[in-house]
Formats: sequence, C-alpha cells, structure tokens
Amino acid sequence: MSIVPYQAGQVDPMNFKFSRLVDNPNEQRVLIVDFNPPKSCNFNCLYCQLGPTTNMINERKMFFPVKEILEEIKQVFEEEGVPDITILTGSGEPSLYSGLGKLIDGIRDLNSKTRIKVVTNGTFLHDRKLRREISKSHIIQLNIDTVVPEEAEIINRHHKGVKLDYILEGALSLALKYEGLFNVNVKIIDGVNDSLENIDKMWRLLQRLQPSSVEIGEIKPFKAIEEHENVSPEFTRMVKNIWKDLPFNVQYNFQ
Ligand code: SF4
Repeated sequence: MSIVPYQAGQVDPMNFKFSRLVDNPNEQRVLIVDFNPPKSCNFNCLYCQLGPTTNMINERKMFFPVKEILEEIKQVFEEEGVPDITILTGSGEPSLYSGLGKLIDGIRDLNSKTRIKVVTNGTFLHDRKLRREISKSHIIQLNIDTVVPEEAEIINRHHKGVKLDYILEGALSLALKYEGLFNVNVKIIDGVNDSLENIDKMWRLLQRLQPSSVEIGEIKPFKAIEEHENVSPEFTRMVKNIWKDLPFNVQYNFQ
C-alpha cells in the first residue's frame, strides 16, 4: 500500500531509479523505496495517489534483482547520509515483490540505524513466509479501510483472488508475534465505508489486533471521487463514541 503521508520536499537530485529522499513534518529524513513496476497492485483503491492500477496482479514476483536495489540504497546512504526511516512502498503493494525479505535483510546489513517501515494492504499476511520476512522491519503500517466485503469491493476494488478473511486472519497472526511498531490506518469515504457495520466490526478487530496505534481519517473529495461529500459530523461522533475505550492511541483526522 503506497500512500506516503509526507509532503515531497527534497527530491533526490540524482534521479535514482528506485528511491527518493523526502523530508517529513517531524523533520526526519525519509527514504522511500519503490521496487515494483508502476503501478503493480492487487487493489485499485478509489483514492490511490499513484493513479489507477495498470498492472493488476495477485502473485508475488521478483520484479528487479534485490542486489540492484540494494546497490542504489547503499549509494544514497553514502552520498546523502543515512535516513531516519526507510519506507518500503513499492509503487503499489510491496509484498507483491518476492525479494522483499532479502531487501529488508540487506538494508539492515547496510546500516542498523535507519528504521525500516513497510506499508501494506495486508493481502499476503496469511502467508507465513511473508510474515517472517516483514517481521524483520521496525514498523508495519497496515492499511485497511473496511471489514465489510461489499464495501471493500467498492473502495479497494481488489483483484478477485483477494479474500478479506485472509487479510484479517493474516493481520491477527502477525500481531501475535510482531515485535516492532504495528500501526493501522483506515481511510473513510462518505457513502462507501462510513457505515455503523464497518466501524463496529473494525472495533472488534482492533480489540483483537491490539496495534501500537490507529489512524482514521477521511479522504477529501477529489476528482476520482468528486460525487462524494465530506464525511458527516454524525459519523465522526459515532466513531469516537464506539472507539473511545480502545486501549491504544487513536488519531482522528476528520474536518
Ligand atoms: S493498495 Fe490501494 S492505495 Fe495502496 S498502492 Fe494499491 S491501489 Fe494504491
């Protein structure tokens, strides 16, 4: 899942093939690494910042040699300094890249100071091998917008091979053993996944996941979803009320 929550600031002047440096509001230096041919994903989210999915696939592939990506990252570290965080986004869903585990290992070997973050839609978390691979990261951000299958078909427009149940089972298995920071991100679109059913079932899921933190916010209307309004104040109140006792940090990003 490749929503990058940072304003692009310092784009790398050397035009690297897989990576770009950006500044974020916390003044951390962030290296974003994209390693799938754009845009390879098993979702085609209504709001995707990368635009429509042009390579809709649902199997893991070795798109580029890990060695090639690591050589570039090594060069960035040497020439630009080691970033505070290295985010593996992948120009789509990063777990589609079958070299992901080796890439994480390789970055850890290059420098132990950068914190490695993986942003995923969770579709391969039911795969034990993938869970082992990404468990070596320091931070995992799971983007999950709905636990109602009919809503997922509208907002995430996923590959027909993707099963929501597998995502939930995989996320629970990961949460049981993962020792890093496990963050959940939920994006809401008016009239799509702003349902009581979703918020109620999501509350149950979060109770079981016990993540480090949760962020929930609305996707503001833009061209691709211009028929949708801002999320209603009633919905915002409902979420805050139902989720008020969750025993971890919840950030609400509504207007
Ligand atoms: S999971 Fe959705 S938001 Fe992430 S890259 Fe795929 S289509 Fe875009």
